Amino acid sequence: MPDRTIKHYCGLFGIWGHEEAVQLTHLGLYGLQHRGQESAGIVSTNGEELLRHAGLGLVNQVFDRHALERIRGRVAIGHTRYSTTGSCTNSNAQPLLFSFAGGQVAIAHNGNLINAALLRRNYEDVGHIFQTTSDTEVIIHLLAKPAHQGKKNPLNHVLNHLQGAYSLLLLFPDRMIAARDPLGFRPLCLGQTKCGAYVVASETKAFDMIDAKYLRDVEPGEIITITDEGIESRHFGGDTGWRGASCIFEQIYFADPSSLVFGENVHLVRKAMGAKLATEAPVDADVVVPIPTCAQCAAVGYAEQAGIPYGRAFTTSHYAGRSFILPTQSGRNMAVKMKLNVIKEAVDGKRLIVVEDSVVRGTTTRGKLGALRAAGAKEIHLRVASPPIKHPCYFGIDFPDQRELIAHTRSVEDTCEYLGVDSLSYISHEGMLSCVKMKADQYCTACFSGNYPLNVTEPVEKFAMERGQLRMFT
Ligand code: SF4
Repeated sequence: MPDRTIKHYCGLFGIWGHEEAVQLTHLGLYGLQHRGQESAGIVSTNGEELLRHAGLGLVNQVFDRHALERIRGRVAIGHTRYSTTGSCTNSNAQPLLFSFAGGQVAIAHNGNLINAALLRRNYEDVGHIFQTTSDTEVIIHLLAKPAHQGKKNPLNHVLNHLQGAYSLLLLFPDRMIAARDPLGFRPLCLGQTKCGAYVVASETKAFDMIDAKYLRDVEPGEIITITDEGIESRHFGGDTGWRGASCIFEQIYFADPSSLVFGENVHLVRKAMGAKLATEAPVDADVVVPIPTCAQCAAVGYAEQAGIPYGRAFTTSHYAGRSFILPTQSGRNMAVKMKLNVIKEAVDGKRLIVVEDSVVRGTTTRGKLGALRAAGAKEIHLRVASPPIKHPCYFGIDFPDQRELIAHTRSVEDTCEYLGVDSLSYISHEGMLSCVKMKADQYCTACFSGNYPLNVTEPVEKFAMERGQLRMFT
């Protein structure tokens, strides 16, 4: 397991025009649970009013039969959340629901707005009261502003005020809207059930949960409005100077291997990255093992390409909590021990190629590699299926402070020594980009390269919506 100190992303799901919309949203959220485990919620409508149920915890903890019955409707949007901006509280659980002069609106957001704190301060200075500490709420304050409501397309106008990463679902009693920022940082796709109801989700795994088919991605800078009349598409945003900035880390780590993300299957991309790594950094060994579970696809690719058997070095407990949400490193180490156990007989006396999808701080990876050594591994060659992470992310991924990133503070040789491995290689930047379908200038790779698609040279208030908890990044 890589350093699961990464907190990130959220999952969105929406469905229009199905008698079982709430139940299907509930199922869809199970398919997006890996994108957020702090809270879950659903807002539905029967065409007159919006009804909400949301809370802290996993999908199966937040919803029971009575909750689903209470919000029954033929339209619904749902959300699973990790907090990257705004703390983990009930009031921040999404979808958020508001009433304003234009009626009721619910919103669900995946991403991070880099100008949210500034926008919020401007509104607070003129007396606006915020109900949450989530960056998402500023979108509603922008939308409710009378001057913006007077525009021909209020939402176009509102979205043009936003900077950063956002895939959005908005629900009004008479329409559902899906939108993706002009650079397309986070994924969002459109599908359809067998009975013709339109569905929108962060990943196609959610479509699989309800037997819906994938139609296409919501395009960067596209707004799709879904009503009983069908779907209508329009575009917003001017020339950003970039062709796109789809987050390549979705392919490396975040998304489920069974999903299509940015139009291609995540498992196959990861496998190709493993194979590329094998050609770039070959080494003789007895067996290729993944650090479970995200690196499995890359390890399969490495093993196939290298002609070295693929094996297991760890067993995984599905009953331990997720280590990276614990607040302290010692707590995380204990949780990792509960979750992963070395198969001593599989590694004793063996020369291992250990494949990892990414290394962030290096502390958790070090612990696992140490356990392999203690179990008798003769050689350990670490191969990482992403380039070194040297820069922070401002677009919805809670990488630690740059000074805590091991590749920022240590050379490859130093890292090799710190991790206690015989050799260490990362896939090259070019090698990584050769494994994905879109052109290189359609991806964000800033955490590897430092080449940010949006101007973040000005101080950016990241994760900073609570007063007194501002962390300034310069
Ligand atoms: S900086 Fe890295 S994690 Fe953040 S959006 Fe870009 S590629 Fe993704």
